[in-house]
Amino acid sequence: MDSFVELYRAANVLEANAVKGALEHDGILVRTLGEALGGAAGELPMESQEIRLLVEQQQRDKALQVLRRYQQSLAPWPCSDCGEQNDGHFEICWRCGAEPEA
Ligand SMILES: [Zn+2]
Repeated sequence: MDSFVELYRAANVLEANAVKGALEHDGILVRTLGEALGGAAGELPMESQEIRLLVEQQQRDKALQVLRRYQQSLAPWPCSDCGEQNDGHFEICWRCGAEPEA
């Protein structure tokens, strides 16, 4: 019954809540684990606030899509027509109206 798998590791509570909100908006059940990871290999010792997001196994594929969309929505994109840097939440170039390349 308990078939949760790790989806993502957020660097802090704010990021974890933002990602969790995006997932829950799409109807995905999310669990968070906030315990500090005790110096596992490759972990930064300062990142004691790291939050792990878990989703149900059968929702993992959908959750990954939501996660990817969320991350793309944050990344600035350069306009291929005029070269302007657009914030991720713009769907078209604010300067010339061109759409980003898929
Ligand atoms: Zn443009």
